[in-house]
Amino acid sequence: MVDLKGQYAKIKSVVDTSIAEVLDTNTYINGPKVHEFQKNLEQYLGVKHVIPCANGTDALQIAMMGLNLKPGDEVITADFTFAATVEVIALLQLTPVLVDVDPDTFNIDVEAIKKAITPKTKAIVPVHLFGQCADMESIMEIAKTHNLYVIEDNAQAIGATYTYSDGRKAKVGTIGHVASTSFFPSKNLGCYGDGGAIFTNDDALAHYIRGIVNHGMYERYHHDVVGVNSRLDSIQAAVLDAKLPHLDAYNEARIKAANAYDKAFEDHKNIVTPYRKGGQDNHVFHQYTLKIKNADRDALVKHLGEKGIPCGVYYPIPLHLQKAYKDSRYREDDFNVTNQLVKEVISLPMHTELDDEQIAFISTTVINFINSNS
Ligand SMILES: *Cc1c(COP(=O)(O)O)cnc(C)c1O
Repeated sequence: MVDLKGQYAKIKSVVDTSIAEVLDTNTYINGPKVHEFQKNLEQYLGVKHVIPCANGTDALQIAMMGLNLKPGDEVITADFTFAATVEVIALLQLTPVLVDVDPDTFNIDVEAIKKAITPKTKAIVPVHLFGQCADMESIMEIAKTHNLYVIEDNAQAIGATYTYSDGRKAKVGTIGHVASTSFFPSKNLGCYGDGGAIFTNDDALAHYIRGIVNHGMYERYHHDVVGVNSRLDSIQAAVLDAKLPHLDAYNEARIKAANAYDKAFEDHKNIVTPYRKGGQDNHVFHQYTLKIKNADRDALVKHLGEKGIPCGVYYPIPLHLQKAYKDSRYREDDFNVTNQLVKEVISLPMHTELDDEQIAFISTTVINFINSNS
């Protein structure tokens, strides 16, 4: 699905030098590299504060802790996403309220959010799924009307640009009150281990969160709040700082690969290519996900496996049907889109090193199988 080896080969000398600097200074935790990367990422995103932490799941949890959400508060998020999003809501004893998604963009359905709001609702967590920005303008408007926080789960869309209806642009993850991201190796900006970060433009919130990530300390050995231990180590920061200048080119390579796939699958009656809302830079293709109509998706998955083509089904089970997140308030009727998507989606190899020949081989294999089996 990804080619981290090929990507590393092209930037080996910068990455190795950056890591060697950490080894030379022996500052493995909170060293100068972490601070350097933090500043560079703030500048890249155009956001006032980046708070590095240990991984993307922690980032989400800490963002919610920073907002002082209380047990029983309801947090609305998408039924069709990675479990981390709903997991941290439940872990903090907040009440997850899962809602359906848009059939085209796979992102949280704005009308479903409106329907799910109760007096207990405190926050909305849009996930910019597969690299495409959610409908942030509508979501921020709903949040304003109902006095809710918006926490962007930006684990899959770092570097994407959102365009407002008046033409203004903002980097994804800088629009809500706070955002989280993951630097897991296969993400669009990945390190060589675990890593994550929280973004916000709110000075007071940033200060509060900087304490939370460090055992609730604002002054050494004074624990003012209950915190956690969540840090980005200096070696991972060194990798990220070496890769950040390439992020735009990496995302462009993903978009270029998506364009080539789109062209190969154009007008096929059984294959729906990813719908793109907004401009080219609104979707940075963490995943390239097709919908397979009136053909056997699972047989296709098996066939690609036999041909040596990696593929994935993200996600095979809606979160509302997962044992851990069942809720008697949910009605199957409320999840028609997710229930359908889990049967139709398939994600093809998507990374920065895909070439035309690979894309042609993958798409031809998909098309040939579907043509002879539908
Ligand atoms: C990867 C991911 C996370 C979690 O990130 P980790 O660094 O693996 O903890 C959270 N949300 C979404 C949508 C993700 O894709």
